[in-house]
Amino acid sequence: MLVRELADFIETLAPSGLQESYDNVGIQTGDPETEVTGVLVTLDITEGTIEESVKKGCNVVIAHHPLIFKGLKRLTGSTLVERAVIMAIRHHIAIIILHTNFDNAPRGLNYHLAGKLGIRKPSVLSPMDGSLHKVVTYCPESAADSVREAMFMAGGGRIGEYDRCSFNTEGTGTYRPLEGSDPYIGSPGEFHSGREVRVEMVVPSYLSGKVVNAMRKAHPYEEVAYEVFQMMNSDPYTGAGMWGELETPIPVIEFIEKVKQELGAEGIRYSRWEGEAIKRVGVCGGSGSFLIEKAIRLGMDALITSDLKYHAFTDYGKSLLLVDAGHFETELLMTGIITEAVQKKFTTFASHISAHLRNPIIYHK
Ligand SMILES: [Zn+2]
Repeated sequence: MLVRELADFIETLAPSGLQESYDNVGIQTGDPETEVTGVLVTLDITEGTIEESVKKGCNVVIAHHPLIFKGLKRLTGSTLVERAVIMAIRHHIAIIILHTNFDNAPRGLNYHLAGKLGIRKPSVLSPMDGSLHKVVTYCPESAADSVREAMFMAGGGRIGEYDRCSFNTEGTGTYRPLEGSDPYIGSPGEFHSGREVRVEMVVPSYLSGKVVNAMRKAHPYEEVAYEVFQMMNSDPYTGAGMWGELETPIPVIEFIEKVKQELGAEGIRYSRWEGEAIKRVGVCGGSGSFLIEKAIRLGMDALITSDLKYHAFTDYGKSLLLVDAGHFETELLMTGIITEAVQKKFTTFASHISAHLRNPIIYHK
């Protein structure tokens, strides 16, 4: 199994096309054509992580936070990041990052976080704009099945828990092949009119190039007529945060205790909300203050996230229960999800959660 193939698998869990514009996901160091000897999964990469991976015989580190994030101008070893990069390169360690692409993925970090906290049937809190395309093509009736199939296989036609969704209209297509053409049906210089099928389906925008290529490859015509539309409706399955309802309403203090237990948090900061019980809950692992207003608009009783500033509590803390459960605590579950997924998929090498995983923040009690 090559590093490239492992990265392709990670892409199915967290498509890189779903990352935020400021992010830097994917393979950051290492040769994609190298055989994987073992995988270490962590949240943050330090020199200790690289040392551990060398000791455990793992030549791949999968992490949530990008090691190389804002760009590197030199590699002299003067910062922790530079030293970790140098060490990774020296020991031929491949680093693969899945970050906001995993946060925004349909079954990504927030989906699992919601499940852990007992939120049922979670939906995306803030669906991504511009995340859907529609791809349309016209092909002879005899080729419609294979063209449609090729588009499905490339990721087209998936709507929530349904796949192979398409719409097909029969009609009449016309063309006249010009000199130099080599038509699949008809002859140069002769007007042609024949039965065709208009095949159309929704496609996540990050897969639209792949679907168009697959469609063109399967299409029998020399010149393929096709259209790609940007859809105005967002994909309700991709985007930031998740929300849903608890099975039964829970009093505030009981709810805070539950969050603390489930996330293994040492301390929780929460607002002076005056409501009695919590039922509708939004979650966003990591820094989620950008979702507060959205959560209020959607009528959440509580929003669980991290990195909340003082003024988030003063400005919004009475509109809903704001819960800062910690950045590390709300993202930690990523390591288990990814380790398990990699172990399930690949049996030729071992995958471990890093023993160096620890909260960089200490709580004094
Ligand atoms: Zn984070």
